[in-house]
Amino acid sequence: MAETTDIVIIGAGFSGLYAIHRLGREHDVICLEAGEGVGGTWYWNRYPGARVDIESVEYSYGFDEALQQEWTWPEFFSAQPDLERYANHVADRFDLRRRIRFSTTVTQMTFDASTDRWHVHTARGDHIVCRHVVAATGALSAPNTPPWPDRDKFRGEIYHTTEWPREGIDFTGKRVGQIGTGSTGIQAAPIIAAQAGHLTIFQRTPAFSMPSGNRPMEQEHERDWKANYADRRKQMLTMYGASLMTRPERSIHDCTPEERHETLEKAWNSKSAFKLMLAFNDIMIDRAANDLVAEFAREKIRSIVKDPQVAETLCPKTYPIGGKRLCIDNGYYDMYNRDNVTLVDVAAAPIVAFTENGLRTTDAEYPLDIIITATGFDAVTGALARIRIEGVDGIVMADKWADGPTTYLGVMTAGFPNLFMVHGPQTPAAQAQMITTGEWQVNYIANIIEGLERDGLTRIDTTPTAEQSWAAEVDAVSQYTVHRFADSWYNARNIEGKKGGFMIYVGGFPRFAELCEAAVEQDYAGFVRA
Ligand code: NAP
Repeated sequence: MAETTDIVIIGAGFSGLYAIHRLGREHDVICLEAGEGVGGTWYWNRYPGARVDIESVEYSYGFDEALQQEWTWPEFFSAQPDLERYANHVADRFDLRRRIRFSTTVTQMTFDASTDRWHVHTARGDHIVCRHVVAATGALSAPNTPPWPDRDKFRGEIYHTTEWPREGIDFTGKRVGQIGTGSTGIQAAPIIAAQAGHLTIFQRTPAFSMPSGNRPMEQEHERDWKANYADRRKQMLTMYGASLMTRPERSIHDCTPEERHETLEKAWNSKSAFKLMLAFNDIMIDRAANDLVAEFAREKIRSIVKDPQVAETLCPKTYPIGGKRLCIDNGYYDMYNRDNVTLVDVAAAPIVAFTENGLRTTDAEYPLDIIITATGFDAVTGALARIRIEGVDGIVMADKWADGPTTYLGVMTAGFPNLFMVHGPQTPAAQAQMITTGEWQVNYIANIIEGLERDGLTRIDTTPTAEQSWAAEVDAVSQYTVHRFADSWYNARNIEGKKGGFMIYVGGFPRFAELCEAAVEQDYAGFVRA
């Protein structure tokens, strides 16, 4: 028998938790969560070294003054266990847990146009009928697993970094193979290398990485933030990445080579992730400016890694620095100076299969006890595409998005009324600090739902025309940044055969928010309410 509620929220990550709190004030809500606990990204990604690259004082909720005053972060850049602890604290403090069903994966959703209700089905057999669905399913939550055959034949253990066992993995004395050198792989590898008998890193594309600069929280820094939190939270929303990072006025082309080197050196040692990309005003928009910084970063790699051939293989040369998200690390390049670490270039000789004993590339077999796939995510669209979502006239979302997602403001997609996405396709996603912008998006959705109810209406949708106008905006701003020159999860080119085009809004959070607000203020321009 079906049960009823006002709103189903999918996902108890940071946005989903806030959605329960905000929407639960005036509505019956049920949150469906695939994991056994809260935290989303910070529940699943418990691989060694998992740490955020935004300052802890910013990467946290701003909706409750007492919470932000009372909570203390032990480090400048929080590690996964602290973020998971924080998510659990928030769930308990605001009594959110009673509204969450854990270990519950949504499998199917169907919109009944005659009643304006969604029917939500789960793998556990729940059937919930509701007026609205808020998909807080995460941009980086559906794992990308390598496609090679004979995985079942491998006699050792295989783990994806986003499905890390709670009890951890004992690498002592083991031959470990790690595939993937993105943000995740770069954080995990040095810790695995310190424990394993031997670590073989299979690298397809080298990444740019800079030292994380993590350190224990300084009391004065924390006090200063706490004294100014309300203002700073407001100010964050006016910044490109919803984070207080100052952008300089100066172009890299306006200084001498010595001045340039001095500035970049200072940025590299700044103990602040991403300061390198903000050392001059044109690094992210001008390819020639970017090339100078990329070469500076390559020189750093060459100066750290002792074997010149290994260093050269680690030097990215095919895309701009920052074109893919810049990684942060703790001793990643230095790790290659260890005797028990080998780098294998799988761009030159790709992996073709698992074998009983390990992995086979086109030119060798590598015997391994444990394989770690740090191969990233079927990002942005993956989590929703894995649910069968039927909108009006039986249209299925995965089919509609087969050639790439279309949305209006990243919040709705036409033909799927009353279904709202947080951090959906064509939003800033990881281009802006995700807890703060997630809160903002949940508030935006809540206002839309409340406005609908105030006006005595039961349905809100968008149109293909509105989607086209948003796609044009997303495309136009993407032409300004160097992201377009890199294959990454931003443009779906991290997975062979995946179509998507540019799926992230890189026009900056303030412009995104302004356009979202303007649509509602202009009598719900681009939306259709009934
Ligand atoms: P990712 O950046 O997509 O990296 C995946 C890695 O796996 C890449 O090196 C990729 O090579 C490799 N790979 C994928 N399929 C492969 C195949 N078939 N054969 C060989 N190699 C393959 O994923 P991620 O490292 O999990 O990071 C994703 C995002 O999560 C980041 O961009 C960031 O936004 C976020 N994140 C942030 C942090 C942090 O804040 N510090 C930490 C972790 C993750 P190619 O490059 O050749 O595709």
